Amino acid sequence: NRTIVTRNYIDGAPKESDFEVRSRVVSLSREPAGSVIVRSLYVSIDPYQLTRMKSDSSSQSYSSLATGIEVDCYGVGKVVASGDPEFEEGDLVGGLLAWGEYCVLKPGAMFRKLDPMGFPLSHHVGALAFSGLTAYAGLFEVGKAKKGEKVFVSAASGSVGHLVGQFAKLHGCYVVGSAGSKAKVELMKEKLGFDDAFNYKEEPDLKATLKKYFPEGIDVYFDNVGGEMLEAAVDNMNAFGRVAVCGVISEYTGKGRKAAPDMMDVIFRRITIRGFLAADFMCVFPDFMSAACEHLGSGKMVSLEDISIGLDSIPSAFVGLFDGGNLGKKIVQIAAE
Ligand code: NDP
Repeated sequence: NRTIVTRNYIDGAPKESDFEVRSRVVSLSREPAGSVIVRSLYVSIDPYQLTRMKSDSSSQSYSSLATGIEVDCYGVGKVVASGDPEFEEGDLVGGLLAWGEYCVLKPGAMFRKLDPMGFPLSHHVGALAFSGLTAYAGLFEVGKAKKGEKVFVSAASGSVGHLVGQFAKLHGCYVVGSAGSKAKVELMKEKLGFDDAFNYKEEPDLKATLKKYFPEGIDVYFDNVGGEMLEAAVDNMNAFGRVAVCGVISEYTGKGRKAAPDMMDVIFRRITIRGFLAADFMCVFPDFMSAACEHLGSGKMVSLEDISIGLDSIPSAFVGLFDGGNLGKKIVQIAAE
């Protein structure tokens, strides 16, 4: 079994040389009774993993990742050997797998049988899994978006962002997204139905840019990036506006400065700034799934996926997240279905 591990802690931007392939023999007879061995098919590549790879990651809320240990991640796979009577060879499962060809799921591991419900398996790593839940819960439970409100989304062509924008449009909101290239901006406007979009890399004054796109102010800001964009959004929030802080990717590599929004604006405009973790919102998972399946099934919502092939493409796929290399959900297909 080949897996991707980190060679060292990563305190700045990740490089492909920070990772290496390790091999180990996987056999049910070596594992605790009740274990299940799964062949990975599709695995998720996520920015938050970088915060786990830092030397001081103990200060983060996500569990830290020691070097040389296989990287756990959400994924979809097929059972190849089972010591658990609930699972048999050939079952499709979704859950916490790993950046590896096979993974051993010990008793108590977080995974379940997967019914694809007629959707491509890759959707069950993104739009019909945590990316979708994050978008749905952040927009409606944290951002409390209402019909007719003005919603701004950053990293809006990414895995979470492109779903936030589409959920908001289907809910009757006015939606503007920001992303880092002309092609991404065009895609948001032409394929995803955003009302408008802009390339933040071409905008020297983000506060003025947001004023231009939201002359009547922002009601909900879905923040994927933190840093200067968060400051600019707070500067443009309406009274009683809500900021759903999903992630601060511009701060993960240490290159961008940490956000310092004007707190007098927060006070006088009674703005709510609330961080959240998708895992806190498993209670809305059934509502989210029914909405997402309906929208995807009817073609009103598109799941953008950026799929690289093969275990060896994991390091470059991961590195690409931090320079805007991906369009939609970044997934690596480890094996054919
Ligand atoms: P994406 O698919 O959006 O990939 C990352 C994107 O972020 C890149 O494509 C890039 O797009 C953009 N980006 C990278 N560096 C910067 C930067 N310095 N400034 C601005 N944008 C940048 O990832 P996800 O959708 O998986 O995650 C989006 C955010 O949500 C992340 O911050 C992540 O940590 C967070 N998250 C939080 C969860 C939660 O439970 N709270 C769950 C899942 C994700 P571009 O070309 O536009 O720059």
